[in-house]
Amino acid sequence: MRYNNYINGQWKEPSTGEYSENQNPHNQEEVLGEFPISAAEDVHEAIAAAKKAFPVWKKLSFQQRAFYLQKAADILKTNLQEIGRDLTLEEGKTLAEGIGETQRAISILEYYAAEARQPVGDVIPSANPETFLYTTRVPVGPIGLITPWNFPIAIPVWKIAPALIYGNTVVIKPADITPKSVCHVMKAFDEAGIPAGVINCVFGRGSVVGAEIVEHPDIKAISFTGSNQVGLQIQDRATAKGKKVQLEMGGKNPLIVLADADVNKAVEIAVNGAFRSTGQKCTATSRVIVEAGIYEAFRDRLVERVKGLKVGNPLDDNTFMGPAVSKTQRDSVMAMIETGKKEATLLCGGEAPADEELANGFYVQPTVFENVPVDARIAREEIFGPVIALFKVRSYEEAVEMANDTEYGLSAAICTNNFTLAQRFVDDMDAGIVHVNSETAGAEPQVPFGGCKNSSTGSREQGKTAIEFYTQIKTVYMDR
Ligand code: NAD
Repeated sequence: MRYNNYINGQWKEPSTGEYSENQNPHNQEEVLGEFPISAAEDVHEAIAAAKKAFPVWKKLSFQQRAFYLQKAADILKTNLQEIGRDLTLEEGKTLAEGIGETQRAISILEYYAAEARQPVGDVIPSANPETFLYTTRVPVGPIGLITPWNFPIAIPVWKIAPALIYGNTVVIKPADITPKSVCHVMKAFDEAGIPAGVINCVFGRGSVVGAEIVEHPDIKAISFTGSNQVGLQIQDRATAKGKKVQLEMGGKNPLIVLADADVNKAVEIAVNGAFRSTGQKCTATSRVIVEAGIYEAFRDRLVERVKGLKVGNPLDDNTFMGPAVSKTQRDSVMAMIETGKKEATLLCGGEAPADEELANGFYVQPTVFENVPVDARIAREEIFGPVIALFKVRSYEEAVEMANDTEYGLSAAICTNNFTLAQRFVDDMDAGIVHVNSETAGAEPQVPFGGCKNSSTGSREQGKTAIEFYTQIKTVYMDR
């Protein structure tokens, strides 16, 4: 089936007339659809539509705008199973995760629909008794949204929903290898009757479609989630043009396991954090730092558990871990594993699974290394795949120092029953999100999401902080 761009309320063929095929990562011979390879011209048309729709959309009340978010949420809910399945087919995460992610997108829309009833701005006492002094928030304008493939429905929605509720219009460029999920979102808004031009989607290459969105003068802000390499380049270009920029990028997230932790519980936390979604989460656990007193017991239980994980077709009920999203991603993870074999000791995994039924897919075994030098590439670089680097330390202090020894600062976790050390950990970690006795991965829409150091720039996404990026403050002096 052939899909098209969604521009100005219509499904439009790309001006190039060219399409690319989308593969099932479980079976590369299965083509899931054909998606536009758009040109700058298509982006210009989408931006013109967003610009035209902006003055009308921003004048609607919050509750009028919320109507469309809630309606889109209801439509997604009606089609939850089908959409979750499509997501699994194109991204490779398990069906439970595909449905769970779709459910999360619905929750995000519902959260921002409810935000329409929340106060905006403050009343501030003025020095002048005649003055009513207050702040309000105004939308930024047409906003460019550039998203990655690993959460192909949740990440687009967690940018679209706040952008729209606060009165902006959008042009989104989703990742080219997982385009179908976002088609469901466009379809839901279309069926919800959202006015033409408020939401536009252009498929195609980052270097063409994404770059044009970043450069175009009528796009007033860019919200990007993806790699550091692309993000920092976008930041330079967009800020040079005076645009607001928000970047969510990589992570090298540590889990610390202290000697007093429950071994089985800590292993489950490590396994879920590192291997769910094939480790393709910005918040995935990739370094596990274990105190000496529990190290051997933890390592042996971890290896036993990892060897027993079912890797397979993500549509099968008993599958724990599906394939990598693409050949490029699988090859990149395998190259890092080969590097790891030279740098450290391989404990388990390290190959493609032997199962012949998986031979057409982009599979990698869940992999664990130990004896990893702190300056090894597998200790420092984001792998974005199912790989754990295991470290042994003598104390809490050494663990925290190692955990913080990274350019990233997205998420961090600790397993301990020591309340004092748990509290110290919350203070000591240079990370935007910290977990005590739960995995590094996870993001609820009602709380801020984002990191420090090279993981994020700009104000946080989600929760009460989303308004920072998607609006500007206006201070009002109103005298009698
Ligand atoms: P990527 O940087 O390759 O691509 C992200 C998006 O940018 C895609 O839509 C791509 O087409 C587009 N793009 C590429 N080149 C561009 C250019 N020159 N100009 C404009 N846009 C361009 O990232 P990816 O491989 O899709 O995703 C994986 C990365 O995303 C990982 O590094 C991961 O950590 C990160 N990520 C971060 C978060 C977070 O919230 N911190 C969440 C998910 C993923």
